[in-house]
Amino acid sequence: MPPIEQYMYDLVVLGGGSGGLAAAKQAAELGARVAVFDYVTPSPKGTKWGLGGTCVNVGCIPKKLMHQAALLGEAVHEAAAFGWVIPDIKSVQINWEALSVAVQNHIKSVNWVTRVDLKNKKVEYINALGYFKDPHTIGGIMKNGEENVVTAKNILIAVGGRPKYPDIPGAIENGITSDDIFSLSQPPGKTLIVGAGYIGLECAGFLNGLGYNTTVMVRSIILRGFDQQMANIIAEEMEQRGVHFIYQAKPKLIKKEADGILVHWVDKLGQVQKDVYDTVLFAIGRRALTKDLKLENAGVICIPDDDKIDAVDEQTNVPHIYAVGDILHKKPELTPVAIHAGKLLSKRLFANSSETMDYTNIATTVFSPLEYGCVGLSEEQANIIYGEDNIEIYHAYYKPTEFFIPQKDNSHCYLKVVTLRNNDQKVIGMHFIGPNAGEVIQGFATAIKSNLTFPILKSTVGIHPTSAEELIRVFITKRSKMDPKPQSCCS
Ligand code: FAD
Repeated sequence: MPPIEQYMYDLVVLGGGSGGLAAAKQAAELGARVAVFDYVTPSPKGTKWGLGGTCVNVGCIPKKLMHQAALLGEAVHEAAAFGWVIPDIKSVQINWEALSVAVQNHIKSVNWVTRVDLKNKKVEYINALGYFKDPHTIGGIMKNGEENVVTAKNILIAVGGRPKYPDIPGAIENGITSDDIFSLSQPPGKTLIVGAGYIGLECAGFLNGLGYNTTVMVRSIILRGFDQQMANIIAEEMEQRGVHFIYQAKPKLIKKEADGILVHWVDKLGQVQKDVYDTVLFAIGRRALTKDLKLENAGVICIPDDDKIDAVDEQTNVPHIYAVGDILHKKPELTPVAIHAGKLLSKRLFANSSETMDYTNIATTVFSPLEYGCVGLSEEQANIIYGEDNIEIYHAYYKPTEFFIPQKDNSHCYLKVVTLRNNDQKVIGMHFIGPNAGEVIQGFATAIKSNLTFPILKSTVGIHPTSAEELIRVFITKRSKMDPKPQSCCS
C-alpha cells in the first residue's frame, strides 16, 4: 500500500448519483482531489442512461414530469369549467411519444450540465464499473473492457440500487420496471403494475391519468411503512379515478402471446386467475448494488438480509471507507437524504466539521394523483413508541377552493396531526392528502425540526385561501369522536 501522500486521490466515489455527486463536489470545493466512478448497467430491456444516478434519469425527475403531464390533462378538463373555451374537449389525449421525448430531452440536458459541473469543479469523472482491488485501490471496467485503476486515501460507496424482478417464469423477458417506463418508445397501453409501494402507486397514478387502463396488483398492503389510514385513502382515491386494484394476489407466470402479455396470478383464495396486458411493470422493491463491488477485497461487511451496508455516521467497518444513499441499511431511500449525508460527510472529512446526518423527521411525498405528504411518525408508529393514551390525533377533511367550480370530488382531502398529550403537546407527525402535498409539508418539516408544539401550530396565522392553512385550522381529535368533515370555508 502506498504512503498516504502517494494516493492518487483524497476521495474516490463509487457511484455518480445523488449522494456520490454531492459528496464529490463538496469535497472538491474544499480542495480535495476527487474522482467519481459511474457506470449504468443496462436494464434487462436494454435501457441505459447517463451520469446523475437514479433520481435524474429513472426516478424522481421523470416521475414528477409524468405526474405533471397527468395533472395537466386533468386541468384541461377543469379549465373548461372555469370558462376556457376548449374546442372538442372529448378529443383531448396524450401523445405518449411526444411526452417521452420531452422527458428524455430534459434528462439529457441534466446529464450534460452534470458533466460540465464536475469538470468545472475539477472532479474527475470515470465512466467505469468500479470495484475494490484492495482497501485503497479501485479498479474500474470501462465500456471497451479496459481497466482503469486508481488509489485513494478515502473511498465512498454510493452505488444505490436497481429494481427487483420476481422469480417467476417470463418476468425478466416480458416485464419492465421503473428503469424502462420513462423512455418507453411505444405507449404502454393496458398496464399491470405489480407492487403497491410508492413507486408502483405513482406509476399507476400517472399512467391512469394519461388515459391508460391501469391495474395495481397488491401482495399484502398499500404503501408499507407509511401511515396506513392515509395509504388506504390514497388507494380509494385512485380506485375512484379508475385504477383497478387486485388485492392479496401474487403473479405466477408472465408469457408473451399474440395479443399481448398473458399474466397468471394466484388470488386470495388460492385460485389461479389470468388476464392479458400490453405492459407489465414490476415495482416490488429495489436491490442494493453491492454484489459487483467485491467488498471482500476491502473487508467491508454487508448485511446479508438486504446486501446493504450498516454504517454509523456513514462510516463502514473499515474506517476510511464510507457509504451514503440508498446503499445504507435502514435509512430512508430518498434523494435529499443521500445529498445531505454526502455533503456533511465531505465537510467532516475535509473541513474539520463535526456535524452528522440526522435521519429523523425526513419529510416525503407520494406523488399519487391526489398527493400525500408526510413528516415524522405515522399514527401506528406513534402508538407503538408512546402508547395510545399518550398521543393525540387531530384530524380534518377539507375542501380545496380550486375544487369548487369544476366540482371535483374532495372526499379524500384529509389531514392529520399527531401530537404528544403531555403539557407541551409536541407535534411528532403531520400527514396531508391533497393538491401540492409536497409543497405543503416542506415548511412544516422545518417547524417539526424546530420542536413544533400543538399550541404553536394553533397560534400560527394561516394564509387564506390555501390548503396548507387547513393544517393549522385542525382542532378535532379522534378521541372526541366528533365529525371531522369539512367546516365552512372562512370561519
Ligand atoms: P443512485 O442515485 O442510484 O446512484 C448510484 C449510481 O451509481 C448510479 O448511477 C449507478 O448506475 C452507479 N453505480 C452502481 N454500481 C456502480 C459501480 N460498481 N461502479 C460505478 N457506478 C456504479 N427520491 C426522492 O427523494 N423523491 C422522489 O420523488 C423519488 N422518486 C423516485 C422514483 C423512482 C421511480 C425511483 C426508482 C426512485 C425515486 N426516489 C425518489 C429515490 C431516489 O432516486 C434515490 O433515493 C436516490 O437516487 C439515491 O441516490 P444514491 O446516490 O444512493 O444512488
